[in-house]
Amino acid sequence: MSTAATLTPAAFTTLSFDQKLDRLAEVAVRVGAGLQPDQELVITAPIDALPLVRLITAHAYKAGAKLVTTFFADDATTLARYQLAPDATFDYAPTWYYDAIAAAYRSGAARMGITGANPALLAQQDPTKVSRANVAVSKAYKPAMEIITRHEINWTIVAAATPAWAALVFPNEAPDAALAKLWDAIFASSRITGDDPIADWKRHNANIKRRVDLLNAKRFHSLRFYTPDNATDLTVGLADQHLWAGGGTTSGNGFFCNPNIPTEECFTTPHKSRVNGHVAASKPLSHQGTLIENIRCTFKDGKITHATATAGEAAINKLISTDEGARQLGEVALVPNPSPIAQSGVLFWNTLFDENAASHIALGQAYSTCLIGGEKMSNEELAKLGANESLIHVDWMIGGPTMNVDGISSNATPEALMRNGDWV
Ligand code: ZN
Ligand code: ZN
Repeated sequence: MSTAATLTPAAFTTLSFDQKLDRLAEVAVRVGAGLQPDQELVITAPIDALPLVRLITAHAYKAGAKLVTTFFADDATTLARYQLAPDATFDYAPTWYYDAIAAAYRSGAARMGITGANPALLAQQDPTKVSRANVAVSKAYKPAMEIITRHEINWTIVAAATPAWAALVFPNEAPDAALAKLWDAIFASSRITGDDPIADWKRHNANIKRRVDLLNAKRFHSLRFYTPDNATDLTVGLADQHLWAGGGTTSGNGFFCNPNIPTEECFTTPHKSRVNGHVAASKPLSHQGTLIENIRCTFKDGKITHATATAGEAAINKLISTDEGARQLGEVALVPNPSPIAQSGVLFWNTLFDENAASHIALGQAYSTCLIGGEKMSNEELAKLGANESLIHVDWMIGGPTMNVDGISSNATPEALMRNGDWV
């Protein structure tokens, strides 16, 4: 882009907090969304992220945005609904709102999601109510979500530290110190602390692309994940015509974007009927305000036949009962254990960060862009190749410092891809 100003060149530690936040905002607009002159931008954000949203909006207009519109959410008002609204209303979602979002995308708007809500907001609420509300939203959101999973538009998700989230990540710190620490962790993992973050992101994307090209050249039939303690021994068949992806991507509208900031993963589409074995999660999962810990699942011919958890077991079983595809896989991703997020040792309770700290699998909807020619196929054609379809897409972490991964070729020969969590 031509109209954006250059980033502050001073050493990161000498910058004020506002200057650091401004850098994140500029990277969100230029590297994340890849916003184009005369393009609309639709932002969703927690109300606590208002200072970041203001800076993002300024950078968007500097980049030539036609109009920036932000929809704010507030944890306290979300919680009030679960505590006080009539029980019969939890199957309702405002379809008019999600239709408007989809209409904005169709008319050319870019999307930016800012994550930062309290990951444990709904932990004490009735899991049935939470699940009913989530299903209603997933159905209403589907038309907009399909535009995103098909990468028809340029989009990104970035993070803003909020007090409740920070308190969960750093429970032993005073509120101000916890918030500062979470911001520092976001700045570092979002790769904005170097002298030239835009150049750093170019280099990072090139590194991921090299790995993606290598995996695509192998044409593996399946991947086998296994740990020495046998907590995990899972074979994940890959979809016919699967395509590995990672880092930045050119969307259907021709604009280059980085859908996730941060991002470290190489990911592809598994075959929905060719997953067998057992797997243990390596990190807890925060899903829509509930916390699910120590997930263990058994797969047979692609489907979860048994799922347990030491906390949130009802939530995980509700989740995989959302629809037919919810107990099958839509994504498999490789992340080396030495990734900066993993090395920080911080458990974020937020998928954007935790999924970039460990190899993972995702239940539910597959990305059609992870199949050769997939973005132009009908849902029936995608299903024939093994791509899963569901209202949900939930990543959960299985990798760690003891994870081994083999790539298995179509003549059943294993090739070591990862040993002890890192690339061979
Ligand atoms: Zn992923
Ligand atoms: Zn995912």
